[in-house]
Amino acid sequence: MSIEFRSERRNLEVLTANEKSIKYEIEQRWDPLTSRMAVICPHLREKWVRFYDEQNEEWLEEMIEESKENCPFCRPVIDNIIAKFPKHQMDESILKLNDIYVFPNLYPRADFEAVVTSPDIHGLNIKDLGEAKVYDFLNAAFECIKKAYRSNAQLLYPVIGCNYLPPAGASLMHFHMQISIQKVPFNYVKNLIHFSERYEATKDTNFWLNLIKINKDRKIAQKGSIYWYTPFAPSGFSEVRAVVNKSNFLNFTEDDIRNLADGVSNVLNYYYHRGFASFNFVIYSNTLKAKNNRFFAGARIVARPSPSPSCKCIDSWYMPFLLEESIVLERPEDLAREIRDWF
Ligand SMILES: [Zn+2]
Repeated sequence: MSIEFRSERRNLEVLTANEKSIKYEIEQRWDPLTSRMAVICPHLREKWVRFYDEQNEEWLEEMIEESKENCPFCRPVIDNIIAKFPKHQMDESILKLNDIYVFPNLYPRADFEAVVTSPDIHGLNIKDLGEAKVYDFLNAAFECIKKAYRSNAQLLYPVIGCNYLPPAGASLMHFHMQISIQKVPFNYVKNLIHFSERYEATKDTNFWLNLIKINKDRKIAQKGSIYWYTPFAPSGFSEVRAVVNKSNFLNFTEDDIRNLADGVSNVLNYYYHRGFASFNFVIYSNTLKAKNNRFFAGARIVARPSPSPSCKCIDSWYMPFLLEESIVLERPEDLAREIRDWF
């Protein structure tokens, strides 16, 4: 089966100001497919976890309530101000499925970007994101991706992402998901495709099927075609991943989307019980042209720090954090020209 779960333990020692020795053990782990290293530091858990599960609920409720005023995604403002799809992108100027609206992101960073939201939901506690609600959002996103691809066959690499609350990079409190599609794969997906194909070419067997067979210690559940697990070498807080034994979104059935919604909702429910309020997820696909199943489509969810008056940074959303894409705001040439004056 040949999957290596490589890890090494290291002992660290620190001397306090009065020269008392403190010893720690850390564990370095390498992702069995990509070799990306993760460091597990159990001694930091106590220190870090309070940034994640200490709720300032009263302040958060106030923030959510205050943000309702002039919220661009609440009625009646949404119907007057949201962007519209040009005809060459979509037959409908705004895609509406029951109470869900899908419309272009006014500030795109990929070849195609859209927002998925419901004007009927403003702020939301993550415990209220049940399977039916998540399904409605995901189903609308999948519909939009299919339509966008039908209009432009170069929109090959779609992801559905969610940033909830400012610590996860959300600039609006109103609950929404996003669709990002590129002609080329996002870095994270590109690496997974590359290493999955290389594994199959050299070992003549499928990495993902092998992983599912031997990953028992980290298996969470298998629901239909979706396998939920915790990664051996995680890169986020309380990270949960899923793989689907289908390569691309065009092969997903309604049952697959329901199972995906059910799993996302279960993880969020768990997060709520851990005291977390904020999260990121992405659901990714191989190229929509993919014919083989060497690569499995999948999902990643991570908990993010709890919102607080001092934690409102919005630059670590799903694209840099989960898809390993850097978004920069200035051309390096312009920056160099400016910095030269300081030398
Ligand atoms: Zn709103």
